[in-house]
Amino acid sequence: MYLPRNPQASPFFRLVRDHFDEFERVYAERFQPKQDYWRPTCTPTQSVGVSTAIDKFLKCGDLREGFARVRCPDCGKEFFVAFSCRQRCCCPDQKRALLLGMRLAEEVFAPVSHRQWVLTMPKRLRIFFRYDRRLLGKLCRLAYETIKDALRQACGAREGEPGYVGAIQTFGDLMGWHSPVHAIVSEGLFRRDGFFIRITRVDMERCTESWRERVFDLLLREEKIDEEVVRSMRGWPHSGFSIDNSVQIASEDEEGMQRLVSYISRCPFSLARMIKVSEDGEVIYRAGKSECVRYPRPGDERLREGVLRNSQVFDALEFLAEVTQHIPDKGQHLIHYFGWYSNKERGMRRKREPVVSEAPVAMGDGKSASDGAFIKKRKMSWAALIRKVYEVDPLRCPECGGEMKVISFIDKCQVDVVEKILRHCGLWKEAVSRPPPVAVSRVAEGEPGYDYGYFDRVCI
Ligand SMILES: [Zn+2]
Ligand SMILES: [Zn+2]
Repeated sequence: MYLPRNPQASPFFRLVRDHFDEFERVYAERFQPKQDYWRPTCTPTQSVGVSTAIDKFLKCGDLREGFARVRCPDCGKEFFVAFSCRQRCCCPDQKRALLLGMRLAEEVFAPVSHRQWVLTMPKRLRIFFRYDRRLLGKLCRLAYETIKDALRQACGAREGEPGYVGAIQTFGDLMGWHSPVHAIVSEGLFRRDGFFIRITRVDMERCTESWRERVFDLLLREEKIDEEVVRSMRGWPHSGFSIDNSVQIASEDEEGMQRLVSYISRCPFSLARMIKVSEDGEVIYRAGKSECVRYPRPGDERLREGVLRNSQVFDALEFLAEVTQHIPDKGQHLIHYFGWYSNKERGMRRKREPVVSEAPVAMGDGKSASDGAFIKKRKMSWAALIRKVYEVDPLRCPECGGEMKVISFIDKCQVDVVEKILRHCGLWKEAVSRPPPVAVSRVAEGEPGYDYGYFDRVCI
């Protein structure tokens, strides 16, 4: 039987399975005081949040959690597609990002060019966002306000809103704590009537200054810093605040946009960069090009051999500490929508949709989008969805090349059925060692719609 993927074979999965229990046990003693990783108050709810995420991750791609059954009508070949765990910031499965990209393309992005905006702040201030994570959402809004004002200034407009999808990445290249805002923003402003004014240049210096002042204001209001700190930081020769918006994505560049969405919603670590994981869980992790590399202990033999150049060495527990600090609190949103792309605006446009799609919408750069600028793209079919998710064509029969069909969805609630089928096919495996979390209802916890959430409604 052909199985499309096996997340449990990944080195990260093994690391979690073999070392997470120990990590949890020694966390308070080893990590909390010394490196103040994770949340400062390891309250029962927060620590349960991380443990719950990890427990779910350990069931990622596990057929016992339910699956889709796919069959070739021509030759009868069958295989199963396991569900994904949907856990943010600990599951390196790309499906979440791919599906987010598809949703944005279908329901959110207008057919105009966009830019990636990256807004950063000095190290000294980042720490406040680690200890008070509700500030991250506020930071994302500040970034929106900053960009909106810069665009309005650029064209002398007093109204008009950009379309904005923002994400906060709490991690840097080597998974250390960071807090840049990454946003995908329309390259211009939408007027109330839907007219798009394209704006290609903004005053970046002024924009950076306004970003800095907004962050100061927020932290003053929240009583994280005082006027004295602000005065001294204003005097720094290099403010440590920066904004970059040099990456542009043309309106027709769907692939470029998908790459960007994957980038802003990516996992704190990459499996491809875990270049070596030893028996006892020591990880050699390759740094990206931009990061100034922290070398491992001097005198390490492997340095001379070149194995460790541009790498960081973590023991198993350090690696878990770095990763788990980025797992968001339950209910904390990582992606934010503002302006023309906010839920409210989109909802209002949906109501007016028949009118909009009949009337041609003039574009600011002179092009007419008479094919209906805001008509939604055709909904993708199921097969297209799965094809996109797997990057290959999983619905193509491996035996005869015929088109396979999803014939049923076996939900994990049907425990007996799941076990019976898997045993029959020789695919039944005993559970991994970590005990299941107590009374966690998957239905209540998960957000329907991710991955095979579509399957929920059809399951037999
Ligand atoms: Zn997963
Ligand atoms: Zn076939």
